[in-house]
Amino acid sequence: MYKGFVNAVEVDFSIPENREKMLAAFKQVDEEKGFTCPLIIGGERIYTEKKFESLNPSTKEVLGYSSSASAEQCDQAIRTAHEAFQTWKKTSLDERVRCMRKLATLLDENRFYLDAWNVEESGKNWGEADGELCELLDFINSYCVHIQELDKGIPCIQTSEYNKCVYIPMGVGATVSPWNFPVGLFANMLIAAAITGNTSVNKPASNTPISAFKFFEIMEKCGIPAGVINFLPGAGSDIGDLLVDHPLIRFINFTGSKEVGCRIYERAAKVNPGQKWLKRVVAEMGGKNAIIIDSSANVKKAAQGVASSAFTFQGQKCSACSRAIVMRDVHDEFVAALIEEAKALKANQGAGRDDKTIGPVSSKEAFDKIAKYIEIGRGEGEVVFGGTYSDEVGYFVDPTIIDGISRTDRIANEEIFGPVVAVIPVDSFDEALDIANQTEYGLTGSVYSETRENVIKAKAEFNVGNLYFNRKCTAAVVLQHPFGGFNLSGTDHKTGTPNYLTNFMYLKSISEDLTK
Ligand code: NAP
Ligand code: MG
Repeated sequence: MYKGFVNAVEVDFSIPENREKMLAAFKQVDEEKGFTCPLIIGGERIYTEKKFESLNPSTKEVLGYSSSASAEQCDQAIRTAHEAFQTWKKTSLDERVRCMRKLATLLDENRFYLDAWNVEESGKNWGEADGELCELLDFINSYCVHIQELDKGIPCIQTSEYNKCVYIPMGVGATVSPWNFPVGLFANMLIAAAITGNTSVNKPASNTPISAFKFFEIMEKCGIPAGVINFLPGAGSDIGDLLVDHPLIRFINFTGSKEVGCRIYERAAKVNPGQKWLKRVVAEMGGKNAIIIDSSANVKKAAQGVASSAFTFQGQKCSACSRAIVMRDVHDEFVAALIEEAKALKANQGAGRDDKTIGPVSSKEAFDKIAKYIEIGRGEGEVVFGGTYSDEVGYFVDPTIIDGISRTDRIANEEIFGPVVAVIPVDSFDEALDIANQTEYGLTGSVYSETRENVIKAKAEFNVGNLYFNRKCTAAVVLQHPFGGFNLSGTDHKTGTPNYLTNFMYLKSISEDLTK
């Protein structure tokens, strides 16, 4: 299975030599700070008058600036990608795969540098940044394996006709990515497009344009012709609709919030003048992920899993746990253990560059939103740990546990995207499952239980795209835990799989009569 594929291994930063390399990368980053990212359309670098800042969320320091695409440049980028498609679609699979293998090599050579920019711009710690890079290497290497299988097409029954059914590329795609995986997810979406023979216009998140740009610069060196991928930073509110609505766009690959994803899905359904096809949308959206702790659970292990899922990277993973649904008979023991875990994490909080376990939240906007939800939660339940936040130096929110939450409370249903976990006590396992399934999301979930019957029941009834038992609900690994959510968490196109790539291709059925 998946012959030739092996998951990438994270850098071990406890090895002094690796720490030295990372410190050297930060030095390089420091020397480069203050520069402006251009748009890149057809290989041409375009610096616009309108710019926006990229801030380090640990310190509020301005790291640099990004050009911001206009409506005309958006149109220009799509037309350029459309032109590039005419040749890229005919480029051999062998050459496409070679480019991707080269890309993986280049990324590996530049990983400390990319990790350092990611740490500075997103506030991740070193291991988290490198974990993201590993996932990206896994995406590339897995797609290189899958595409060769997919190239065989779908087997057809042979008669007096010669029959085949083959995958072909679609055309121009738009990719729109979030700030929380500024390298890995930005890259994954455009790589999936390119390896399947498509061209694309790629919009990074406005909080993290530099990390995406640094990746893009490396990707430009892997042999992919100019115009196949195009870098188009700009505010989603300015250019998002233009990208989605454009009649030359065949598909949109989006990762981000439910609100924006639903908007894209709806707009993409409209056939605009000059458009001869229906657009496809792949959307990976938010979550309100739950971990159930039943009466038979190893409570300490469960507390560790919940703390790690809820508080690392400050709860800013789509897969993060934001609800702990716990049986009343183990509730007190569980909450006490969770508080201990949160204390240890809080004691190890600091700037991304300092490589503490937890760091800042991404921006002032995120900070304000999380603070607002903490205050809502204070009214709905009892803050038993944390509940404190400060934006004096950077945007720091302490790990926060809010106990005594009921299923109808807002913090039991709305995505906060911060280090806040709602503890919901329940009287039965059925009630726990019912509450776990009640939100409009369905991304990840986990159950801590030593009761076989409960495990079997949850396997069938816990309705999420990624379900785990006796482990945390974050840290999906490519091809070990294919990732993607149900309901309003997304269109459930599991990243890193062969199925994922088929979203960006048509199947062409070809039949030739062999008789005279
Ligand atoms: P977001 O606000 O939805 O932004 C995502 C992207 O959409 C950004 O590039 C944004 O641009 C752009 N955008 C904004 N308005 C748009 C519009 N009208 N049309 C098209 N694009 C538009 O999400 P975020 O705050 O960056 O990321 C956090 C969210 O992503 C969370 O909900 C999280 O759960 C989700 N997420 C999901 C997954 C998954 O795999 N399911 C993975 C990671 C994150 P600007 O940056 O310029 O606003
Ligand atoms: Mg946002």
